[in-house]
Amino acid sequence: MMLLLAIGFMLLHALCVLLLPAHAIAASYVFLLAAPLLAFACALRRGLMVGLHHSHGWSLIALSMLLWTAGMFTSLCQDLVFRNLNVAPGATMLLYTLYGVPISYAVATVGVDYRSGLQRGIDAILAVSLGYLYFVLMFSWTTLQGVSSRESAEMIALMFDLENAFLAAMTTIRFFAANTPRLRHLFGALSVFTLLYGLVAAYYNHHVALDVAPDIGTVYDVVVDVPFLVFIIVAWRIRQPRAHTLNPPDALVRFVRLGSPLLLALSVLTVALLVVRQRFALGVAGVVAAALGYGLRSILSQVSQVEAADRLRNDQTLLAELALHDGLTGISNRRAFEEAIEREWRLASRTQQAMSLLLIDVDMFKQYNDRYGHLAGDACLRDVAAILTQAVQRPSDLLARYGGEEFVLILPATPLAGATDVAERLCDLVRQQNLHHDDSPVGHVTISIGVASIVPAQGVLSDELVAAADRALYEAKRKGRNRFEAAT
Ligand code: GH3
Ligand code: MG
Ligand code: MG
Repeated sequence: MMLLLAIGFMLLHALCVLLLPAHAIAASYVFLLAAPLLAFACALRRGLMVGLHHSHGWSLIALSMLLWTAGMFTSLCQDLVFRNLNVAPGATMLLYTLYGVPISYAVATVGVDYRSGLQRGIDAILAVSLGYLYFVLMFSWTTLQGVSSRESAEMIALMFDLENAFLAAMTTIRFFAANTPRLRHLFGALSVFTLLYGLVAAYYNHHVALDVAPDIGTVYDVVVDVPFLVFIIVAWRIRQPRAHTLNPPDALVRFVRLGSPLLLALSVLTVALLVVRQRFALGVAGVVAAALGYGLRSILSQVSQVEAADRLRNDQTLLAELALHDGLTGISNRRAFEEAIEREWRLASRTQQAMSLLLIDVDMFKQYNDRYGHLAGDACLRDVAAILTQAVQRPSDLLARYGGEEFVLILPATPLAGATDVAERLCDLVRQQNLHHDDSPVGHVTISIGVASIVPAQGVLSDELVAAADRALYEAKRKGRNRFEAAT
């Protein structure tokens, strides 16, 4: 369907030029403007279809098409309005040259991971510099009044060939390295266009414009429609790419990944070095821009990589913290306790020092929950945890939430006498805080503690210590709560 329309378009173009010899120029311009404008519309439509986030590449193609159309339009003004006074060749040439800028920018940036907007900005500046330097380079063979001799015309044609070959090569590489259907479609359409455009431009600039038909308005103009129409056909339809087509060689993908950030800077450098002979200051400025642009870009990417690594490390630290802390009270959790007791147990076995364990349980906590509600119960647990934390003095001591309303305190290198002192202090501190508990016989929250102390012997497990503390705690509860008991 699209193919038939395209053929119809070209036939109509040819017929108009042949059948309306008096208006051949105007008629041909209509088609030469319509083709790129249609391509522009097609690229815009595609951009809208893929969504704002992915429209970057299609928008750049649309911009390219628009620049080319503008070039054709200034050429039309020159031919029809100013009647070949050659007022506009400078503008025409500039626009035809600049048309390559969005395409090179697309090649360098689409599908590339940008870590900062600044990087994108640097690439944009490099792309515009590239277009301008290339334009200046071309104009070193011509004047603003137009192409003066056959040699300079051939030189200009050659420069266009170079630009087109460069664009075709770059877009084709990107096409073969594309690893998503979206990129494949974009660079497929773009590479087909740039390849055909390069061929047509070479044919037209070297042959038609120089030897056969120097002016617009002949049937030769029809070939100029071809790349635009083919682009529309390719861009219009989406064929779901088969899976195997989306496995570009690793080396190619790596080449594009490494080459993309270099591409613009290197191109600017090359063209600037060519310009240096004619316009020294500008050439040097171009070289400096290329070096600065590339340097800044690398620094930015290094900085963002370091930042990303920092973020990752922080996340890991946070994750590790979360894994070992109790969500409600913020103190160590059961897992941290299990790790710590094994560690301390081994250490105590080696040094043959006594280590102690306190098992702390909030008294009548079920009643507290029942009377004040679960949320108040949570707050109470947080308060108790804070009080206990304050009371733990040595850095080697570890307080953890053992579960429910039970806490556990490991006291390394502490014999029973020291441990009972601590237990007494903890009971006192909780009492002194006077946390209201109307269902408690004393009217405030109290705790019971079971204390156990042991010098680890060969073949004895740390569970023994926990079991002994648990028995002592049971004893404390049995004897009326709000007290501590030591395991014998
Ligand atoms: P005892 O004096 O014998 O220790 O009696 P108790 O009521 O404190 O003991 P029991 O084990 O019967 O009840 C503990 C209560 O603690 C039951 C449970 O609902 C409550 N509890 C456990 N974890 C939490 C928690 O995270 N938040 C709240 N609000 N309550 C909890
Ligand atoms: Mg309990
Ligand atoms: Mg309890």
